[in-house]
Amino acid sequence: MWTNLPRVLTLVVRGFALTLAVLTTVVVIRTLTFPSYQTSPPECKTTDPDFIPADEERLARFTSAIQFQTVSYERGVGTPQELLKFVRFIQESFPTIHSSPLVRREVVGNYSLLYRVEGSDASLEPYMLASHLDVVPITQEASWEAPPFSGEVQDGYIYGRGTIDAKHSLMGSLEAVEFLLSRGHQPKRTLYLAFGHDEETGGHFGAKVIGDVLTERGEKIAFILDEGTPVGDGLVPGVSKPVAMVSVSEKGIVGVKLKVQAEGGHGSMPARKSAIGILARAVQKLEDNPHPSMFGTGPEARMLEYVATEMTLPYRMLASNLWLFSPLVAWVYAKKPQTNAFARTTTALTSFTAGVKDNVIAPEAEAVVDHRIHPMQTVEEVLEFDRKVIDDARVMLEVKGSLPPSPVSPHGKDSPTYTVLQETIQQIFPDALVAPTFMVANTDTRHYWNLSSAIYRFNPYVMTPSDLPRFHGLNERISVGNYERVMNFYYHLIVNMDKPLEVKRHGHEDEL
Ligand SMILES: [Zn+2]
Repeated sequence: MWTNLPRVLTLVVRGFALTLAVLTTVVVIRTLTFPSYQTSPPECKTTDPDFIPADEERLARFTSAIQFQTVSYERGVGTPQELLKFVRFIQESFPTIHSSPLVRREVVGNYSLLYRVEGSDASLEPYMLASHLDVVPITQEASWEAPPFSGEVQDGYIYGRGTIDAKHSLMGSLEAVEFLLSRGHQPKRTLYLAFGHDEETGGHFGAKVIGDVLTERGEKIAFILDEGTPVGDGLVPGVSKPVAMVSVSEKGIVGVKLKVQAEGGHGSMPARKSAIGILARAVQKLEDNPHPSMFGTGPEARMLEYVATEMTLPYRMLASNLWLFSPLVAWVYAKKPQTNAFARTTTALTSFTAGVKDNVIAPEAEAVVDHRIHPMQTVEEVLEFDRKVIDDARVMLEVKGSLPPSPVSPHGKDSPTYTVLQETIQQIFPDALVAPTFMVANTDTRHYWNLSSAIYRFNPYVMTPSDLPRFHGLNERISVGNYERVMNFYYHLIVNMDKPLEVKRHGHEDEL
């Protein structure tokens, strides 16, 4: 036996070298031959006869829309008078829409708006463009470069709450429909415009009711587009071009209350284990043991693959070979909170309550964990994992509230709705790559799951890393150029939706 050892070693080394050589060859070949997912449809130009310019009139309408203080504070607490005024303003601002025999307008849930623009071909499934009337409250008002409800224009930017969330898409889609109808054009495919009034506090009284109304009517929607992820410039590492990120899913949420009851009593004669001590150990375990990486199983991996061919090395090599490098990318993603949120179900310890007096042992301790669930996991799996990690029967788990991750909408060349969206995006943003992703926050679309299996969340404007804090934050603003793109994006989407929705390409390149 011992005499064979050198021979065995040689074989092992040779085997290893061979495997490495094969792997390297596969990696190199895939890197060089990885398919491109991008298209190049005819670009939308300012000289086009049907280009919608951000002229004085349209800008004035938009800045006026910003001046309505339609703030949502918390669930069921908003600004009803402002909403009513804003709704009236919309009615007065778009005379063609509001007088056209093709349009049916309904007020739903007292303040939300639902428009149906009748298409000429009833055999085509309608689609829906969604946005919302409300905005988040103002913080640090004194630090704004322009008053937050002014709609003031400074250096080519329109300032104010709602400019990027989401009065841009509300006004932009209305401008597109107004433009279309005033040119005497009737769309072939029926379209809905759905504007909820309490998106910022969950949409329970707006979008929820819109969803219910349409479900009761048995309406099936070909696809829904709501606010969402932007065209990111400098947001995706390894890609110099802007990336239009189309969210094909949303993370779920589960709030878990952990509760421990133990012996209370006077601080002078403590039992060995206190409620606080037991609970502290439990939350410590949760923080020390993050949920497993799901990187490579969902849209977060597709995003890299869709832009792979446009990446610089070595990103390109990694993204073209996720079959091999997923664990490595997952490890890198875990380093930063911003990327970690895309790789797994996150765990945030958000509250810890126990004790009232310095010399009294608390008989009870409670903590709350806020999990955001990766699209490829379920609420049950998350709870199961927590129980296993805590591994202590004294800690009771109770679900405070939950929303499962949204279904993943079809994407890629085999999906006609995604393809229409991608081509429209590339008409308006010819330099941009288009890629699927998912949202770590939620939109009104949570109330529309019954209506359509193709739900997309996308904002047709460019954002750089320094713009991100403006979202729900200080100095929210949109450039005039971006607002112009928003209007033209919706217009082109409506025009493109008149073409039959069919799969244009088939091929092996989709079978990754
Ligand atoms: Zn919003």
